[in-house]
Amino acid sequence: MIVVPLGVASATPTAVRHLPAVALWREGSVFLFDCGENAQMRMLQAGIKRSKIECIFISHFDVDHYSGLIGLISTLQLQRRDKPLRIIAPEGIQEYVEWNLKFSGVELGFEIIFIEVAEGTDEARVIDEDDYFVEARALKHRRYCLGYRFQEKDKPGKVDAEKATKLGVTEDQQFKDLKDGQDVTLADGTVVESSDIVGHPRAGDSFAYVTDTEYCPNAVKLALNTNILYHEATFSDSLSDKASETGHSSAKDAARVATEAQTKLLVIGHFSARYTNAHLLLKEAREGFYPAWLANELRPIFTDPTHERGIVKAKVELKDLTKESSGSGNYRKGGSDRRSGGSKNFRPRRNSEGRSNSSSSRGRSGSGGYRSSNRSTRDGSSDKPKDENRWNKDSSNRSRSSYRDQDRF
Ligand SMILES: [Zn+2]
Repeated sequence: MIVVPLGVASATPTAVRHLPAVALWREGSVFLFDCGENAQMRMLQAGIKRSKIECIFISHFDVDHYSGLIGLISTLQLQRRDKPLRIIAPEGIQEYVEWNLKFSGVELGFEIIFIEVAEGTDEARVIDEDDYFVEARALKHRRYCLGYRFQEKDKPGKVDAEKATKLGVTEDQQFKDLKDGQDVTLADGTVVESSDIVGHPRAGDSFAYVTDTEYCPNAVKLALNTNILYHEATFSDSLSDKASETGHSSAKDAARVATEAQTKLLVIGHFSARYTNAHLLLKEAREGFYPAWLANELRPIFTDPTHERGIVKAKVELKDLTKESSGSGNYRKGGSDRRSGGSKNFRPRRNSEGRSNSSSSRGRSGSGGYRSSNRSTRDGSSDKPKDENRWNKDSSNRSRSSYRDQDRF
């Protein structure tokens, strides 16, 4: 599963932060947690298809958490969606959506299945599928607010095919029965026990979405042993009075929930607009719970860290672009030599004049015209290529900083 924060602001958006929304991608389906204004645009920018949305979970009815919902539904209609959409929220969502659609004269070509949680409900399993379920629990906010936990069900253990073959299992049906937990009797009467061949069931991944709440036991229950806990950290601890006054958490509270729940990774978001640099909040969270990250809009986080390495490796290819552009930059240190494989899949960025900014790809392309512009860089006879180099250097730093700052463990 991949978690993609789409908006990490709290009630007021800033120039760089959007209203709350988090997408969870799982095997081609998308689950949206809250739908602030601009959530659909951020999905587009993240490369997440809106048509793949299965369910939308709304935590509560503070406007910033659902203000993008009608716009998104309208887009789905324009895209001629035909499969049903499930919306899970506190009681009242159906009335809100239907009134808005009626007001705008929109007739949907697809069905919306509303799953409303009656106010006062402490816990409920709102979705239950063959391979995953979602539970909702009441949090502690100024108004009725739900936190969610998305849990994959345990996956069957791995089949040791080699051992099975040695014991004489040959037919597909026999393998299937063993995998399903049934013992198999072979033609010669030998019984092959399923427990000998199939390993322990593997625990499914899990993700908890806890936002707009003070510290409360239900937050811990939602987050218990999760792979990723996405928790709000609206304030720093120095404003803890304000946090409890407004029904919010500080970064310290988020760390407390993560510690008590023994989550594997805490991701904090929902930052107050007063923090232009949220690293202050990250520092505070890490004092209480070290494996903590800042939610970075559009920056995907894998529930299984072994997959995370794959994405970091892919990004390393960016370093190669700067190889020929400057000899002095120490930003290249340690890493580019570890790189293997070509960067042929990388499309070089273009500047405003539509020319490639990547001098390494220029060199590779071998075009005479490009070469001459390169030469002028070295001679210092033209300002423009120098700027390009600077641009390359900056962009390299920018693209990698989030990984450095949020080194996982
Ligand atoms: Zn909020």
